[in-house]
Amino acid sequence: MSDLSPYTPLTPEIIERIRENVGPEAVDVTPQALDEASRDASTEVHVPVVVVRATSCAQVQALLRLANELHFPVTPRGAGTGLAGGALAVHGGVVLALAGMKRILDIDAKNLIAVVEPGVIVADLQAAARAKGLCYPPDPASLDTATVGGTAATNAGGPACVKYGVTKHYVLGLEAVLPTGELLGAGTATRKGVVGYDLAQLLVGSEGTLGVITKLILKLIPLSGETCTQVALFADLSAAMGAVSAIMAGGVTPSAVEFLDSRCLHLVGDLLPFGDLPRDGALLLLETDGAQGAAQAEMERVGAICVEQGALHLLPATDEAQRGELWGVRRQVSQRIHDSDPIYVPEDVVLPLARIAEFVGRLPEMEERHGLTIYAFGHSGDGNIHINVTGKAGLEERMEACVLELLKLVLAMGGTMSGEHGIGVAKKRFLPLELSEASMRIQRGIKDVFDPQGILNPGKLFR
Ligand SMILES: Cc1cc2nc3c(=O)[nH]c(=O)nc-3n(C[C@H](O)[C@H](O)[C@H](O)COP(=O)(O)OP(=O)(O)OC[C@H]3O[C@@H](n4cnc5c(N)ncnc54)[C@H](O)[C@@H]3O)c2cc1C
Repeated sequence: MSDLSPYTPLTPEIIERIRENVGPEAVDVTPQALDEASRDASTEVHVPVVVVRATSCAQVQALLRLANELHFPVTPRGAGTGLAGGALAVHGGVVLALAGMKRILDIDAKNLIAVVEPGVIVADLQAAARAKGLCYPPDPASLDTATVGGTAATNAGGPACVKYGVTKHYVLGLEAVLPTGELLGAGTATRKGVVGYDLAQLLVGSEGTLGVITKLILKLIPLSGETCTQVALFADLSAAMGAVSAIMAGGVTPSAVEFLDSRCLHLVGDLLPFGDLPRDGALLLLETDGAQGAAQAEMERVGAICVEQGALHLLPATDEAQRGELWGVRRQVSQRIHDSDPIYVPEDVVLPLARIAEFVGRLPEMEERHGLTIYAFGHSGDGNIHINVTGKAGLEERMEACVLELLKLVLAMGGTMSGEHGIGVAKKRFLPLELSEASMRIQRGIKDVFDPQGILNPGKLFR
């Protein structure tokens, strides 16, 4: 935190007032708590002065009323799996931990709705819905640890989004505490609703800068009868992307279309039974789901299209264990990239579908020019590419130049700089590349309306 911070420092007297307002048991100033709250899954580190662990909406309101009155910063935090530093206290102050608000309040099978507190883990909500024959589709790879509140605040996506959409498509309504301490109810508990501006959707994806989500009303759908999975190996990415276009145009909507470029494929090739891999090879991981029999028929159609488009090998999963192994290969990619080089920058750009192969084809020349290694993998069905730029320690400046060039290329090709991870603090310097001055002005104005004192998650999104 800079000495020039515009915020009131948290003196022992103010910390005492926080204790009086939220209850002493909720306030944690131990070095371990502060250290844990200083990190998320990004490379940023910012140490708060106090951690408040809320277990009720009333505590959130009490804290924000006080912060608004005394002008100290508050940063909401779910599980801290964010990749953009959104949950870090860049101006110090309080980290408001919401993981303790973890009650599933209702799974309403008649109305296909779930009502949950924000600290519920996504996988726990999915399991509770499944137990009633229902499904909550958003499936970020972090679903075993990420909270529903955090995934709503970042509008998280995942492999199934190609068929089912992202988190915002499942948020019907919510309750949020505004930075003034006022409680806002937004949206509906119905499947449709158009009364007034859609404040619920404005809060979704706002990265904890407009309000603290304390309750969510979520849409559920019926559970599918079966899921079929297979991987397809291609000679190069162009052929793989040709298959993706043909599948999407071929009347099939897969529930996952993941890809690995040749660098990623060679990184995890030992986990696959294909033997020698083509030098420029690319892999698709495909899934279909639906009623018993229908998913299998769709997967056969997907396989036939892959062969027409030049697939060298198809490997269908014959049971749940094999399905798990195929997804395990996909999940190993991030870990192995992480292990391969000491520093790396994860980007998650989105390209128009028809330009993915062209974009990835530009990466080898860029790697060579910058002396770095670039891996590309992700959700090819919706154009969302995870680009990992890696290098040796000391090459940070080159990485910054390379990332800037990559993002400019994405925008020039009609894409966007983030499909899932958000802006937080990690990418805020790049925001003016994509947003016009008018857009930035309106968005800053929205922030001012919600948060006149600028106390909620300051230093994120906009300067
Ligand atoms: C291994 C791994 C895999 C991942 N895979 C994916 C993926 O497939 N798709 C994807 O989209 N992301 C992915 N992520 C990123 C991350 O998991 C998501 O951004 C997730 O939504 C963050 O949830 P969280 O509970 O950890 O939130 P945090 O990291 O704690 O917070 C994220 C943001 O939300 C805000 N916030 C948290 N709770 C609230 C609340 N109740 N009210 C208001 N604001 C709040 C915080 O201030 C912060 O800005 C991955 C991360 C990891 C480490």
